[in-house]
Amino acid sequence: MRWSRALIPTLKEDPADAEVASHRLMIRAGLLRPVARGVYTYLPLLLRSIRKVSRIIREELDRMGAVELLPPILHPAELWQETGRWDLYGPLMMRVTDRHDREYALGPTHEEIVTDLIRREVRSYRQLPLSVYQIQTKYRDEIRPRFGVMRAREFLMKDAYSFDADEASMADTYQKFHDAYCAIFDRCELGYRAVEAEAGEIGGTVNHEFMVLAGTGESAILSCAACGYGAASERAESAQRDHELPDGHQLAPLEVVDTPGKTTVDEVSQLLGKPADSFVKTLLFETDGKTIAALVRGDREINESKLRRLLAVERVEMAEPDRVKEVTGAEVGFAGPHTLPDTVRIIADYSLAGHGNLVAGANQTDRHVTGLEIGRDVEPEEWADVSLAVEGDPCPQCRQPLKETRGIEVGHIFQLGTKYSVAMNATFLDESGSPVPFEMCSYGIGVTRVIAAAIEQNHDDRGIIWPVAIAPYEVEVIPLNMDSEVVVQTAEHIYDACQAVDLEVLLDDRADRAGSKFADADLIGVPWRVVVGDRGVEEGVVEVASRRDAETATVAPNEVAAYLRDRIQPARHGGG
Ligand code: ATP
Ligand code: MG
Repeated sequence: MRWSRALIPTLKEDPADAEVASHRLMIRAGLLRPVARGVYTYLPLLLRSIRKVSRIIREELDRMGAVELLPPILHPAELWQETGRWDLYGPLMMRVTDRHDREYALGPTHEEIVTDLIRREVRSYRQLPLSVYQIQTKYRDEIRPRFGVMRAREFLMKDAYSFDADEASMADTYQKFHDAYCAIFDRCELGYRAVEAEAGEIGGTVNHEFMVLAGTGESAILSCAACGYGAASERAESAQRDHELPDGHQLAPLEVVDTPGKTTVDEVSQLLGKPADSFVKTLLFETDGKTIAALVRGDREINESKLRRLLAVERVEMAEPDRVKEVTGAEVGFAGPHTLPDTVRIIADYSLAGHGNLVAGANQTDRHVTGLEIGRDVEPEEWADVSLAVEGDPCPQCRQPLKETRGIEVGHIFQLGTKYSVAMNATFLDESGSPVPFEMCSYGIGVTRVIAAAIEQNHDDRGIIWPVAIAPYEVEVIPLNMDSEVVVQTAEHIYDACQAVDLEVLLDDRADRAGSKFADADLIGVPWRVVVGDRGVEEGVVEVASRRDAETATVAPNEVAAYLRDRIQPARHGGG
């Protein structure tokens, strides 16, 4: 391809609204142009990279036995109503109405559409396991579209759905996808981690997020360098801690103190001059008509999902103010653990283990207590891990301190079980001829987000540094003097020769100054560059340089194609 025909509109200035490097560079390098909030045209360079990532995905999924299809983007409301997600999905779902006033969603994900297909077409256990995938545009009306294609409202996703006859077989398929995802992200040369994650509105239990490690990532990950444990911070667990008080701890006297109008840990902490980590937060929840008091340290937050899992219930709700008053005898903000009615089940978070002389609500309006000792003044029914884990908490597997890093979620895989098949009455006939609901999983990769994440990890202050496997072009040939016939001819010759050995070549045929061609070459980040200059040509050589390590070599024009082929071909599969 010749640059003059390639529609690569590079910019010298950073766009004003781009907060992260990948967004800035995708605009400046002429990969992307906005059309509406979170909606973009993918320009030719980006489309080429999208095709490469898609190809890697297809090769790995085909290899593991999945098959590609293409369902519609337009989804009739009725299918989403079957699972209740027409309402549950809320404003994140883009909706349209046709001329007959029928409602449709612009697909944000495809569980319903694919489950509907499979319940119609797959009858027997003999047809299982079955895994299908697609690569298609998805719509999500994100509250805060940002970072370019990283969080867009229209974006490209690979999504896949697997159907198995039983749980064991489902877990096996899940593992195969997990491994295929690792192969895909390895080949895209991403530095990533697979971590345990919360399921969110999709449902199901076991699920993993694939996180590309990047300081600008929107997700926090807690991981353990010692044993390799890793989880999204909202999912991360922490190990049990000893709840004995440290040796030599002097039990403090329990005293009631006046704290008029001070209801938060911050306010009371300021008033009493005591640090937040010497507080007990007493949070009242209701589930199945029972009241639970969860005690967490003043500087910690409750993790309601952990509480839900501990109690083995679908939902827990914060108690309403009236209920709080009824249980504590005080206004909201003064609840404490030590004089609660016996009917309230008290669960103490590990963050409080080993802490004494605590401040807590007094269960009297405008009063707190100091000198509270767990074990003396209150005996929790249970010690448990119910707070959001933070850096420094002990690893649940090996007790070493967890470390926090940030990541970009590029993929997410879920074991759904029979949640969708039961809701949609999707069954197959087992060996005895009885109808059984499919065991399902779903698997997503944000194709456009993968590219943004790759740029986030592979750039310098001059521009993008593409990994060969997903680069829009592999080689850029730069004739420095377009007025010199011999320079132009040499460049054209190299361009043809590279194409003849199947390299993907861009020829910068513009009549621009050398400096601006170099700057653009750095910006768009093609992995290999061939510079054809007056002096070199006189001496019978050109300069071949790699974008990543600035290593250069002088090579005879006739040998350039072979020289580059030897370096590029092995890197195409990923790893160069
Ligand atoms: P997030 O937590 O980032 O909003 P999600 O968990 O809602 O994402 P999934 O439903 O798991 O997303 O979708 C599968 C994949 O699609 C994600 O792992 C991500 O790579 C990609 N993706 C999701 N939302 C967007 C978006 N708005 N723009 C670009 N890619 C997205
Ligand atoms: Mg997700």
